[in-house]
Amino acid sequence: MGTVTDRRMNDNNRSAPNLADYESVRQGFVWPTPEEAFSRRADAPGCFNIGYEATDRHVAAGRGRRVALRSIAANGLATTLTYARLAEDSARFANVLADLGIVAGDRVFTLLGRVPALYIAALGTWKRGAVFSPLFSAFGPEPIKARMQIAEAKALVTTARFFERKVKPVLADLPSLKTIILVCGGDGGVDFDAALAGRPTTCHIAPTRADDLAVIHFTSGTTGRPKGAMHVHGAAVAHKLTAAYALDLKPDDIFWCTADPGWVTGTSYGIIAPLLIGCTLVSDEEEFDAERWYGNLERDRVTVWYTAPTAVRMLMKAGDDLPRRYDLSRLRLIASVGEPLNPQAVIWGRDVLKRPIHDNWWQTETGGIMISNFLSMPIRPGSMGRPVPGIEAAVVRREASGAMTFVETPNEQGELALKAGWPSMFTGYLHEEKRYRQCFVDGWYLTGDLVRRDADGYYWFVGRADDVIKSAGHLIGPFEVESALLEHPAVAEAGVIGIPDPVAMEVVKAFVALRPGHTTDESLRKDLLAHARKRLGPAVAPRYIEFCKSLPKTRSGKVMRRLLKARELGLPEGDTSMLEVEK
Ligand code: AMP
Repeated sequence: MGTVTDRRMNDNNRSAPNLADYESVRQGFVWPTPEEAFSRRADAPGCFNIGYEATDRHVAAGRGRRVALRSIAANGLATTLTYARLAEDSARFANVLADLGIVAGDRVFTLLGRVPALYIAALGTWKRGAVFSPLFSAFGPEPIKARMQIAEAKALVTTARFFERKVKPVLADLPSLKTIILVCGGDGGVDFDAALAGRPTTCHIAPTRADDLAVIHFTSGTTGRPKGAMHVHGAAVAHKLTAAYALDLKPDDIFWCTADPGWVTGTSYGIIAPLLIGCTLVSDEEEFDAERWYGNLERDRVTVWYTAPTAVRMLMKAGDDLPRRYDLSRLRLIASVGEPLNPQAVIWGRDVLKRPIHDNWWQTETGGIMISNFLSMPIRPGSMGRPVPGIEAAVVRREASGAMTFVETPNEQGELALKAGWPSMFTGYLHEEKRYRQCFVDGWYLTGDLVRRDADGYYWFVGRADDVIKSAGHLIGPFEVESALLEHPAVAEAGVIGIPDPVAMEVVKAFVALRPGHTTDESLRKDLLAHARKRLGPAVAPRYIEFCKSLPKTRSGKVMRRLLKARELGLPEGDTSMLEVEK
């Protein structure tokens, strides 16, 4: 499909991109220290705190009256918070935490939609020196319980409705959870607004260092429980620089990141990076709606828009006439992440939205964008782009011995590896040192993604090397879904895979073998779907369930999801030497 150049970059009323000359910046790039990238705080030498850098630093520099957040409520009304107000409210929240006995290092969870309280809670948590861990509000009680148990959650900020439906059923299993803060009040917790109202608007900013823990983001693997990827305050150096380079963010931008802060994109680029840069962040509490989204872009005069392929595909489905009714002329960059972006979507963006879509790649563990189609270079539709300055990427092969070899031939497939050491690299999986160490070989982080690199250094996504599922941009661990299904009294075995879907890319399908005495009828299928939805929430539960007599397993009893998938899709079954004889 050739290349596509983002022409408006050259409009004479636009300033040059932050990364105008990729090659020269890349050569000899050295990551700045937090003090070089941000401020040298005379009041706290050697300290570095994301909450401070995202708010108070701007106020101290005279930028307090700029709009930091425009938060659109479900009913369409927007709340606007300036940097000064966000600095004050987050300080108030830090004071609330202090009064409730939350100390540095404690884990503060949120289970909230995209409402102002979420941003205030995140920033206040960092100012307190505590660790922020966001939960996706479409999770059900089981994923919520697992994540809060692993991280020994001390406090949870949520709403009375979520608390009743999603937390109360598992509260007895969360002994560390001492403090519940309820936005808009309600029974069973401290009232968020009332608590903030009575607190001072400044706080003691915790003397965190760059290598102190700031965020725990849960992600899924093929097996085992969710993994708590740990990120430190100093990761902010990469958040700021990657947002400047890959998203071309500048202080006068109006930036809309559609990702939910329950996932890493919604935190790194939906909270941290834009506030570090000092631009205006737009958020919308409501879920996708094509007219509403175009309306947001027009009304809020969004200049940089970061979204996901599923959303782009849904916009494409809504038709080409719709966007023509809106004034999108302010939009100067559209970027996308999270799943493969079809080449057609890049072209559609160029032809219909008048901006091509710039795909980029990263994952929870990398903390920030690693590979990108930069504004200053031609886009290769279907490619994820080239490594961010400061990131050394390679295509490798893991040998059976555990050693790693580099794939040098262009376009040959292998696993994407990144040379360890960039500032937002995860510093571990909480309580899982072995799982963390297994991600590294010879100082390289192995991503689990299969890719190829063309002769010009552009990377192309091929697929995952493991069984995790990507549905509507959200990573789902099959094990978590299988475990919930196995809790149903009728289920003997469960195997879960992702099957192709034209919009969400993949949806979850479960294969289930029943215990004796249960019959495979429609009412049981509905009951199982409802059971899974109730326990896991709509974001994780299977869309389809197929009954089978037994599941293909290895001789050691592990369900062979790869085989289930091959059979479902009519693909070659590959090596089945490990297969237990099927009954
Ligand atoms: P998460 O950790 O939930 O952000 O998911 C990360 C995974 O999403 C990656 O390992 C990839 O499998 C997938 N992913 C992220 N960005 C892209 C992209 N631009 N193209 C294809 N897959 C992507």
